Amino acid sequence: MWKSVAAAPADSILGLTEAFRNDGNPSKVNLGVGVYMDDTGTTPILNCVKDAERIMLGVENSKSYLPISGDPEYGRQVQRLIFGAGSEVISSDRAATAHSPGGTGALRIGGELIKRFRPQATTWVSSPTWANHQGIFTAAGFPIKQYPYYNSETKGLRFDELLSALRSIPAGDVVLLHACCHNPSGVDPDGNQWREIAAIAESQGWLPFLDFAYQGLGAGIEEDRRAVTEFAARGVDFFVASSFSKNFGLYNERAGAITVISPNSREKDVALSHLKSTVRVCYSNPPAHGGLIVKTILSEPTLEATWRQELAAMCGRIVEMRRALVDGLAARGISQDFSYITRQRGMFSFSGLTDETVAWLRENRAVYVVGGGRINVAGLTSANIDYVCDSIAEALA
Ligand code: PMP
Repeated sequence: MWKSVAAAPADSILGLTEAFRNDGNPSKVNLGVGVYMDDTGTTPILNCVKDAERIMLGVENSKSYLPISGDPEYGRQVQRLIFGAGSEVISSDRAATAHSPGGTGALRIGGELIKRFRPQATTWVSSPTWANHQGIFTAAGFPIKQYPYYNSETKGLRFDELLSALRSIPAGDVVLLHACCHNPSGVDPDGNQWREIAAIAESQGWLPFLDFAYQGLGAGIEEDRRAVTEFAARGVDFFVASSFSKNFGLYNERAGAITVISPNSREKDVALSHLKSTVRVCYSNPPAHGGLIVKTILSEPTLEATWRQELAAMCGRIVEMRRALVDGLAARGISQDFSYITRQRGMFSFSGLTDETVAWLRENRAVYVVGGGRINVAGLTSANIDYVCDSIAEALA
């Protein structure tokens, strides 16, 4: 079967991790991978997760299947997280949530569902975007186009170009948006800009699909939902893909959710029926453990309080490392202004380092950065920050 088949290309970021692992340099630093690391360079299990698992060990008495869309209480807690407890979307009962295997599973199920009813649609992604967006929506059968987003000269949004592109996208097409902590740039629209974007979605009639993989890692749990709130206020159909990989540190548990928001409860019921039938033919029903952890934490106020503290600490450490990097580079007399790094949100930063510098850093200093200059700020620690700043200063000298 495979005799004359060429191997598929390796995933570029996972390939970088492999190269990092094999690098014998004791000073090596991995700023490539997309996982949070604490100041000791490890990806910890949160205390609230350990506490939830201890509770689960005592009460879990069956490994029988979950319902197709997951535990209904999980769905309720996810909606409270993404919309806020007092949201009109919840009181109007116009959102349906299915527990999915991670954010990737949520995006793919959403794509499969939309494809059934919008077979002619194109999916629009930001330029640039997380590489897997293109792969997931291509696999779900959509042609992909890009809308302008990041301006590498100003290190900000191409907001006017973004708006004019969104105004020309036809009704029925899918527009994938990063709800917060844009990956890879770290640059997000502000509240007023989201309002303008949502207004265009309503007047044009394209379908907003919000990828919400970093809630709480930008400006906080509440502030990070501003995109969701603006689309909700319009009463339009839209989709939200949640991931709990980063904000609960549940990477390998594959905990996520796809939420379909409709203008009213009756249409939501129809959407839910098709959402379930889509899940049924993809993976039948979700893996329970990670979702049960999230549900246990969110249904228990003291565990939720611990989670909020631990999430705020992750977020705070990232902000601190952004500042340390910018200050460290300035202290080494680098003339280039890197202050934009402190304005970016989330784990990632478009550092502004060129591919040439990225290659030099890897070959000469074993500092691993993704091509294009994206760095995972959480890869910086108090132990490696001086080495990284020295290395970048040398590379730029
Ligand atoms: N969307 C974005 C923007 C991401 O960065 C990621 C993870 N890197 C995901 C979705 C997928 O998350 P998960 O690991 O939960 O599938």
